[in-house]
Amino acid sequence: MVCINCGSPKTQVSNSRGNVQSLRTWRRRHCANCKTSFTTSERPDLESLYTVSTSQKSPVVPFSESLLAVSILEVMAYSKHTPETSFWLLKTVIDKVVQRHRPTEPLSTAAIAAIVHETLHAFDKVASLVYAGRHHIETD
Ligand SMILES: [Zn+2]
Repeated sequence: MVCINCGSPKTQVSNSRGNVQSLRTWRRRHCANCKTSFTTSERPDLESLYTVSTSQKSPVVPFSESLLAVSILEVMAYSKHTPETSFWLLKTVIDKVVQRHRPTEPLSTAAIAAIVHETLHAFDKVASLVYAGRHHIETD
């Protein structure tokens, strides 16, 4: 990886920590050229690993983290939380998707929606109700 400060390719990992609860690996890199240290985060590239289908007859498309982010951001507009909260909710949803589904089978949009709804419900009831309405999820 090139240095974020000077662009030199002479960077090395100086510290690395995996997390058993997450698919992310935290790393500190150090640049031999300008002596800058910076943090990186490594995780699987879901868009190249997972596919999604809306039904058995519909075409399979690549998983879109962007569409997932927008769907969460749109309903979080109804909450009192800051927009940054949507980013952390997105990370939680992605972790759950990877923990529960292997990339060998296409994900159904219903399975993704259920995970988003469950995550929102635990965090913001209004946003989860709006999401349920938009994605035709039955609630109690
Ligand atoms: Zn540098």
